[in-house]
Amino acid sequence: MSVATQVKCPFCYAYGPARRGPEQECDDCLRRWTPVPTREGAAFSISGRPCRVTAAVNNTVLPPRHGFAHESFRHPDLARLRRKYRLGRIASGINAEFDRQLALRDWVCAAWAAGQPSVPFPPLVHEDHVDRMLTLARREGRAYFCTYKAMASVELASAFGWTARLVNIMKHMVHEIWSNDYNKWVLHDSLYNMHYERDHLPLSAREIREEHHRNGARGVRAVWGRGRRDLGPAHCADFAWYVVYMHNNFFDFPPGDHIHPLLMPRDRWNRNGHWRQGVQITRRRGDKYLCKGMVVEESDPRQLDYKINQTEVFLLQREGALWARFQHNMPNYGALMTRTDGHAWTTHRNCRKAEVLWPLRAGTSTLEARCVNSAGVPGPLSVIAVRSAR
Ligand SMILES: [Zn+2]
Repeated sequence: MSVATQVKCPFCYAYGPARRGPEQECDDCLRRWTPVPTREGAAFSISGRPCRVTAAVNNTVLPPRHGFAHESFRHPDLARLRRKYRLGRIASGINAEFDRQLALRDWVCAAWAAGQPSVPFPPLVHEDHVDRMLTLARREGRAYFCTYKAMASVELASAFGWTARLVNIMKHMVHEIWSNDYNKWVLHDSLYNMHYERDHLPLSAREIREEHHRNGARGVRAVWGRGRRDLGPAHCADFAWYVVYMHNNFFDFPPGDHIHPLLMPRDRWNRNGHWRQGVQITRRRGDKYLCKGMVVEESDPRQLDYKINQTEVFLLQREGALWARFQHNMPNYGALMTRTDGHAWTTHRNCRKAEVLWPLRAGTSTLEARCVNSAGVPGPLSVIAVRSAR
């Protein structure tokens, strides 16, 4: 389906073919509306007033091809963990979301020593494994390796209202946290307390993999710690393959629960290839993940790095006035926030029902919209500015 050539209904969000003329009709809900363009530079008129979109950051909600099972930010185990370890202290006094996420990584890195667990894997499947790891590390000095750090990071991210996902690269487990600051996924390694940047922009696993295959990751830097210290050129060969666990509800479903699938990039760089990793795996099947039957393969970067927490603005004309409607894809949705021309924010509990009258003034008018999740964390801002001569 080519989404670009179709029109999305601002009421039920169904895609349908664009009709001739200004008025559109939805094949699904049968409602009619007159859309107003939201792309930068587009011209339109409202009651004979000529207008132009002068700036637009409209965070489009794409239809996802792969589902993801999200942790509830209201899970009682999360609340207990937050209280018991006073997690609020970790990022207190830090304003920028990305810096707060670095503070969490720093904390997880230091929370217990890195090494082979002295007991074989029991905390991995135990229902309170983060709690158990922290307790045993503090009480007995137990050590845990990358898988445990990554899993704990994913769970603890939920305690802050962030969405994280577990990523297995070659011989190493890492994780990604959705960054509302950067409006993208960012890969974190909480064993080594580092991430990867190109031109000071933190990268996702997919981006690092692409850099690796394209040019040996020439421009990628390894960045360490809360202060984002540059460690120099990064070695990214381990990113040649990766899988993403398509769930983070680990309190009820531990990683690799054989219910939720794994997403794997499959494109020109690994066509017909096998992920061989370790002698006994090679002997058995030759492919570490495909042999489990839980892998979904995907080549579209927009699906591999499916953007969440987006708030899309639809503009429409009705009876000579300009109106806005909205769609979001925020997990653990709390509310939609909108404002015009920098006035006070308006809270809408039901995003689907929200409708905002946007009275254009002479000069430039702005409309801003974003969603806030149930933990109070705001998603990226959508902003549209329109200039009207009178
Ligand atoms: Zn519709």
